[in-house]
Amino acid sequence: MAKVTLPDGSILNAADGTTVKQLAEQIGAGLAKVSIAAKINGQLADLATTLTGDVNVRIITPKDKEGLEIMRHSCAHIMAEAICSIWPATKLVYGPTVEDGFYYDIDLDEPIRPTDFERIEKKMSEIISADRPFIRKEMPRADAIAKLKGDKYKTDNIQRATGDVISFYSHGDGFDDLCRGPHLPSTGRAGSFKIMSVAGAYWHGDPTQKMLQRVYGTAWPTQKELDEYLYRLEEAKKRDHRVLGRQLDLFSFDDAGPGFAFMHPKGMVIWNAIVEFWRSVHNKYGYKEIKTPIILNERLWHQSGHWDNYKENMYFTNIDGATYAIKPMNCPGGCLVYKTNQHSYREFPLRIAELGLVHRHEASGVMHGLFRVRQFTQDDAHIYCTPDQIEAEIIGVIELTFELYKAFGFDDFHVELSTKPIKHIGSDEIWDISTNALKNALTHKGITFKINEGDGAFYGPKIDFHIRDCLKRSWQLGTIQLDFSMPQRFGLVYTDKDNTEKNPVMIHRAILGSFERFIGILIEHYGGAMPLWLAPEQARILTISEKTNEYAALVQNKLRLEQLRCGLDSSDEKINAKIARTHTEKLPYMLVVGPKESQTSAVNVRIRGVKESKTVAVDEFLRITKQKIADKVMDLTI
Ligand SMILES: [Zn+2]
Ligand SMILES: [Zn+2]
Repeated sequence: MAKVTLPDGSILNAADGTTVKQLAEQIGAGLAKVSIAAKINGQLADLATTLTGDVNVRIITPKDKEGLEIMRHSCAHIMAEAICSIWPATKLVYGPTVEDGFYYDIDLDEPIRPTDFERIEKKMSEIISADRPFIRKEMPRADAIAKLKGDKYKTDNIQRATGDVISFYSHGDGFDDLCRGPHLPSTGRAGSFKIMSVAGAYWHGDPTQKMLQRVYGTAWPTQKELDEYLYRLEEAKKRDHRVLGRQLDLFSFDDAGPGFAFMHPKGMVIWNAIVEFWRSVHNKYGYKEIKTPIILNERLWHQSGHWDNYKENMYFTNIDGATYAIKPMNCPGGCLVYKTNQHSYREFPLRIAELGLVHRHEASGVMHGLFRVRQFTQDDAHIYCTPDQIEAEIIGVIELTFELYKAFGFDDFHVELSTKPIKHIGSDEIWDISTNALKNALTHKGITFKINEGDGAFYGPKIDFHIRDCLKRSWQLGTIQLDFSMPQRFGLVYTDKDNTEKNPVMIHRAILGSFERFIGILIEHYGGAMPLWLAPEQARILTISEKTNEYAALVQNKLRLEQLRCGLDSSDEKINAKIARTHTEKLPYMLVVGPKESQTSAVNVRIRGVKESKTVAVDEFLRITKQKIADKVMDLTI
């Protein structure tokens, strides 16, 4: 008898040898229908797997992350079969899943072209329609090696696999592939798929090896989800911040400084609006602000450990015969400021922020608009405190983080906690205290988090914040990092209650990360249509004829005096041409003024994204927009 414990804690008894599929049927016909695999004692397994003894079982459906991956990996096998049937000379190499899809690396001299995709997809559809079962076959390692004799790629895969038993999966027609599994019960369950692209990829990423072809595909449980995904891709292309940055005249790059962004006047308005808000929130949370030099003596970087661990990413210069480094991080400079005074536990926690300009050498191949640059401004801060203050400080940082994110319209986020790695400094005791403090702080705030066991930095555990933008793309923004190393390296001390000198706990934290990257994310998230409080030009007055030029100037003046960023187009172009141009600049408001408006001290307001215009008094427009800006609301309704 197999004793099966389900995720809800309930126990089911099943005859020994019952398959997962039969178990799912025992639980319910609905579940059986959507089930594609299971997790048995934490291990993924096929529906055909038999159950014996005491086992924990969770049935997996395509709605689960694991289920979606199994579906995509099965799709990779189906694509491999399709490609092999069209090009029998194909040698299969390796076909894993990736975010949103899968790929298969193949060795085939004839290049596969985008025009071939339809042919491959058609073949895949045939395999899926035939609804053939995925069948697992296991054999001893030696037999598997013998079976794959002469196939250097798959033999290499076996050599990289662990265990004495090697498995293959077939789905009829003689096609089988070396694979750990699990797979869908049959090809008919593969969902909706599409071949996306083909690219060159070296075997093992090694440029001395043969260049293979990597065919990418995507797969989703339903056609609707596939369509939505393709729509998001199209949208992402339209929202590319590099394109919008040029179109909206926000920033540029020049060969004179690869990876160094030039912020234009309109880009600086966004920048400064963020800084102003950032400062006001930090003020509220009890932070003080400093500014430290960007060039500091080499000596300091030996002391900080950057010389040993980070030198390749740093820029150096020479002053008066001595070597100096351009800072890649703000912490060492912050430590020097800390050391200029004596400190007591009484002034802790000490929260010191810095909008620090840092330089990091990124390889030229990985640079990508504002997302990956060589120079950026970090919204950094260091908190110095005692061990028993850690938890309260982390809670404070979490609250501040969410307050900032929400103002930008990001309310879909997830949190990860990384714990003690094998190689670390600091006692187990301080690691326990601080890791628990991080956990408690997250739990206290009711935040669910994922634990990355052993993934912390060698000098302390950390929390990372990831947000999702409107296209469901995930971005890591904020980080809170505990550091037991730097206070020792720099000899930072404070006088404790018992009158002895101790090293403070140092917390590094950044919320938005890099200003440049964050602005890039904002541009794509909003598709360039910035919220009112961030818009470089919040409103523009458009005159119908020159008769109202004087009135238009008066209105502009009035709005500007009240700090509204208001432009004026009094050119003699036709009003429709002015509206069309302003429309492409994605301004929140257009204020059309003609004789009627000038007689009634009003403006005819066209709201971004709204068809109908509306006439309101200038004072009313001003009152409403000022309130919206102060509250940072997204809704532009007047
Ligand atoms: Zn496989
Ligand atoms: Zn730091």
